[in-house]
Amino acid sequence: APPVEKYEYQAEVSRLMDLIVNSLYSNKEVFLRELISNASDALDKLRFMSVTDPELLKDAVDFDIRIQTDKDNGIIKITDTGIGMTRQELVDCLGTIAQSGTAKFLKALKDSKDAGGDNNLIGQFGVGFYSAFLVADRVVVSTRSPKSDKQYVWEGEANASSYTIREETDPEKQLPRGTCLTLYLKRDDKGFAHPERIQRLVKNYSQFVSFPIYTWQEKGFTKEVEVDEDPTEATKNEQDGKTEKKKKTKTVVEKYWDWELTNETQPIWLRNPKEVSTEEYNEFYKNTFNEYLEPVASSHFTTEGEVEFRSILYVPAVSPMGKDDLVNPKTKNIRLYVKRVFISDDFDGELFPRYLSFVKGVVDSNDLPLNVSREILQESRIVRIMRKRLVRKAFDMILGISMSENREDYEKFWDNFGKHLKLGCIEDRENHKRIAPLLRFFSSQSEAEMISLDEYVENMKPDQKDIYYIASDSVTSAKNTPFLEKILEKDLEVLFLVDPIDEVAIQNLKSYKEKNFVDISKEDLDLGDKNEEKEKEMKQEFGQTCDWIKKRLGDKVANVQISSRLSSSPCVLVSGKFGWSANMERLMKAQSV
Ligand code: ADP
Ligand code: MG
Repeated sequence: APPVEKYEYQAEVSRLMDLIVNSLYSNKEVFLRELISNASDALDKLRFMSVTDPELLKDAVDFDIRIQTDKDNGIIKITDTGIGMTRQELVDCLGTIAQSGTAKFLKALKDSKDAGGDNNLIGQFGVGFYSAFLVADRVVVSTRSPKSDKQYVWEGEANASSYTIREETDPEKQLPRGTCLTLYLKRDDKGFAHPERIQRLVKNYSQFVSFPIYTWQEKGFTKEVEVDEDPTEATKNEQDGKTEKKKKTKTVVEKYWDWELTNETQPIWLRNPKEVSTEEYNEFYKNTFNEYLEPVASSHFTTEGEVEFRSILYVPAVSPMGKDDLVNPKTKNIRLYVKRVFISDDFDGELFPRYLSFVKGVVDSNDLPLNVSREILQESRIVRIMRKRLVRKAFDMILGISMSENREDYEKFWDNFGKHLKLGCIEDRENHKRIAPLLRFFSSQSEAEMISLDEYVENMKPDQKDIYYIASDSVTSAKNTPFLEKILEKDLEVLFLVDPIDEVAIQNLKSYKEKNFVDISKEDLDLGDKNEEKEKEMKQEFGQTCDWIKKRLGDKVANVQISSRLSSSPCVLVSGKFGWSANMERLMKAQSV
């Protein structure tokens, strides 16, 4: 027999397995969803790769997923006819954590620990393949990649720090292609191997998988069978004096086992939006994007005419990458289909601008070729039109959240994705009109609750022309700045820009509803109350003082001037009209470290 080789898990895998096995996990059944989603991914990959390499499909087997249970021995077998794994892929994929879902989980766990949070997060995330160990104490993965002529078997146990790989030589166990996972259930979890239970779980968790899922079910049909004459009947007959024997039949139920199609394979986006419930959209989202929290909003639409495509977009409840990963998001947020065939989830950069990368969804086009590549997408006029429509729909969806009766909904959204929209002010001039109404800021009249620009404008004084702002590092320091004195005296409202990116975003917007944004820390602030006469007098009286101060400070300041903008402070440092604001200087300094 070929040798069995032993491998150590990467340290993180061991840690994760430890967590899985030892945490009191209330929702064990998600293991099935994770494993089916892997099977479905493997089928998607094969279908996509076979477009350019038809040789991969040389073994003509259907694309499907089959789940067989043995309830007496507590065994579940999940078989797919997908892309399979080579020996090296087994090591890379099942012995290390390089994978999105699991890495995301570990990061969230770390973040929550850093924040002093609890450990119960595991219920909110999929932990991918390793979730098999929630219910199994031994897992065997037998797999054949169409790229390899050999089949390999990976074997691992719960609570172990190593796993083994060997070649499969048993002729009985050869797969045409794809992967067969065998779970040997823990004693207390053998109930999962009940055929009806598995069927229920598949219906619950995987109804939107786009490949057929069959479960092995016991069936019965009724049959009339001939039976021998009942002896008591016979006696009766004799008493009646009849001698001829009558043939009798009886109905019996014949039992047998067979595969039963368990899921619905029509994609939800092909259905009429009027007939799809919110629950169905949410389930589809959770299934497709491996999310455990419901989305905050969704939008299902079809466009016809010049380009034809269907799409469902979602806004997630939390920012998956954390708020720090804004500039280089590693997203797989948009799943592109062409005529219902999954193409890739790696093209979202072409379909959505970077700053909207948090929006998730599916897009199914009838106009693109099946062998579409990134290059084709980049040059395609169709894609440009699609992109425009998708972005518009995404903004409509976000606007919908902002108009929710429950103010908290949008506050949460803003907390998660506000930065993204501000980045949009910088990167997407074309959509300023759509982004601006979605922005939120603190202000001198609203220090605890953020306001919109519309709220600001509504609150403007009749003769106020501009929108005032001051950039600072916190609300506290913003409200204590001497720049505010005069303005507050006049009861004007000032936006407090306390997020580093705020100021650049506002400067890019330039104006809102024809009102310019004006930085109150700049030297030429005009509050419309100039008294030329008085200023002239003051200049004469204090001109020498100014000269003296300038001499003392030298190069530290550009200029020393008389100003009417203060009411109680003796002096204030302002930035030049064309210079950087103090806040920007601080930012630039921070960045050049
Ligand atoms: P993820 O699905 O987020 O990538 P998983 O832990 O679920 O992470 O799976 C790890 C990797 O193992 C997958 O990315 C895939 O490469 C491989 N894999 C798992 N199950 C299968 C399967 N049934 N067929 C082929 N490859 C698989
Ligand atoms: Mg997975």
